[in-house]
Amino acid sequence: MAVLNRLLLGVRARATTTSYSKFRAFSSSCSIVNPEADLKASPPSSSSSLLGSKPLPLCQDHRHPVQWVFLGCPGVGKGTYASRLSKLLRVPHIATGDLVRDELSSSGPLSSQLAEIVNQGQLVSDEIIINLLSKRLEAGEAKGESGFILDGFPRTIRQAEILEGVTDIDLVVNLKLREEALLAKCLGRRICSECGGNYNVACIDIKGEDGSPGMYMAPLLPPPHCASKLITRPDDTEEVVKERLRIYYEMTQPVEEFYRSRGKLLEFDLPGGIPESWPKLLQALHLEDHDDKQSAAA
Ligand code: ADP
Repeated sequence: MAVLNRLLLGVRARATTTSYSKFRAFSSSCSIVNPEADLKASPPSSSSSLLGSKPLPLCQDHRHPVQWVFLGCPGVGKGTYASRLSKLLRVPHIATGDLVRDELSSSGPLSSQLAEIVNQGQLVSDEIIINLLSKRLEAGEAKGESGFILDGFPRTIRQAEILEGVTDIDLVVNLKLREEALLAKCLGRRICSECGGNYNVACIDIKGEDGSPGMYMAPLLPPPHCASKLITRPDDTEEVVKERLRIYYEMTQPVEEFYRSRGKLLEFDLPGGIPESWPKLLQALHLEDHDDKQSAAA
């Protein structure tokens, strides 16, 4: 960890523009000397509790491609909304969970150890995740990509500090959903093994009681050509989802405060499924989706 601390000090100076080579320099010099010891993340450090007072940098400058982060518990819908926004804003949606799953399916040297960590609901080490992310960012940069919406990163205070050291994050959207819906959404999640499409077979119908409103989320069913090819993620079992939620509260929730104290956090309570939540999220971000309006009017 001494190496990591020295490197963290080295990247702490803020860059005015994104420099993934710095990010990469961090991760490559952080070579994994003892992969078995270093694969799994270590417990969190403390976080600041100051409150920022700047207005949130919402989507007002259309010349600057956004550099946004999506935070939120497993099952909240980070992937769904980050992917919709990435299409609307024409920036890549980069989900570190997908990068980890790609690494797992590549049967590379790390894959069996990573599978064990992921399938137990634990976080992989900051070094490995930064390595995967910096490779993805560099590959995108080489193709001319700019801007991004990060989903699933940062997930620890250390990851947030490293990211803050190498680039300017404009905005962090913290998606929130009632606890009782999160588990059901993870257990209902299905993926088409052929096209990779994401669906959900859960029908969430929480009755309002004692003054709290009810919530209905319709299932997101696959089209007929995907229906026979659906698979469930191995880490979407009840036991593992509960562990992922526990890890979120322990390791990732402090990241909310990290960004809140820097005046970058937009809290967004999802009011229900996509039809209710998408327009409200756009409104909160001062955005308009013309295609969505046209299809709703059709
Ligand atoms: P979730 O639905 O829990 O948000 P993801 O698809 O984002 O899951 O991630 C799947 C798994 O990949 C995580 O449980 C974790 O093991 C690993 N992972 C993804 N992103 C990170 C990260 N930033 N740091 C450490 N581990 C990560």
